Amino acid sequence: MARLGREKQPPEVAIGLDIGGTKIHAGVIDRDGTILHMIGYPTQTTDMPLIEHIKRIAGEALHWQRHAMAEAEVIGIGIGTAGQVEWPSGIIRYASELLPNYTGTPLKEIITSAFGLPVIVDNDVNVMAITEARLGTGRNVKHMVGLTLGTGVGGVVVANGVILRGKWGGAGEIGHMPVDFKGIPCICGGIGCLEQYASGTSIAARYHERMAAFGETADSPPDTREVVRRWMAGDTAAIEVMDDAFRALGAAIAGLMHLYNPELIVIGGGLADIGEPLLSRIRKEAYTRAMPSFAEGVPIVRAASGNGSGMIGAALQLWEYR
Ligand SMILES: [Zn+2]
Repeated sequence: MARLGREKQPPEVAIGLDIGGTKIHAGVIDRDGTILHMIGYPTQTTDMPLIEHIKRIAGEALHWQRHAMAEAEVIGIGIGTAGQVEWPSGIIRYASELLPNYTGTPLKEIITSAFGLPVIVDNDVNVMAITEARLGTGRNVKHMVGLTLGTGVGGVVVANGVILRGKWGGAGEIGHMPVDFKGIPCICGGIGCLEQYASGTSIAARYHERMAAFGETADSPPDTREVVRRWMAGDTAAIEVMDDAFRALGAAIAGLMHLYNPELIVIGGGLADIGEPLLSRIRKEAYTRAMPSFAEGVPIVRAASGNGSGMIGAALQLWEYR
């Protein structure tokens, strides 16, 4: 009887790239989601096109691995990026002016041919959901809806353990789900989208509008963080703006509960840092709007995985879709 080989397998790692509107992070990540090495650069460059900048950063992460962890096997490069991503071709279907000349970029193809490694590209919210599902609050959960409240509002739907993608990969664009059909016009061309009420950008903008309506002026208008601080301090205009944000989120989440019957709602993004004062209001508004049979026993919680979760999820894709 042949003896089984006992050769030690080299440890596997993947490169994770998180491409945001302001920063790009790259890391060397193992299959447990541990960050072994990490680098970060501003997204905006003056000396080279964005795609060359991305290649340079990926190359730097690989360079570290080759020198500091030569014994490891790099199984591929996973990318989570801002913008709309076609799945599984990894073409950027649309990106705002924050990422200039990015729309139409065949990102997966370019990075594959640059490094000769398997490459998986998805949008930033979908890869964060992988981190949350494997390492965070979504462990042991098959049906989950995630929202990120930051500069914009992102969303992801996980059904039966699989990210819902739709026709070309755009499913889960919760930020542009209308919550008021007579509401505020949105940059997307729609009316009354959730993002117009519940993103950090819109919270600040709506507060500035109220200040102007009251005849108040400020040299440096308060940012989202300051609006939140004023809300917690009982400022009337800030309360009005935040009440609208919570009602909009409640309407959206109730709709999502009815559509997808999730076990768990996860809230991430910069605004989630407010913690319980934010979550308790979102719960109140969502639970009163959803049918009890859909809302009962569905926790609305803050994402457990914080900074780096986009980069980690980007890398985890290599094992996820193996
Ligand atoms: Zn919209």
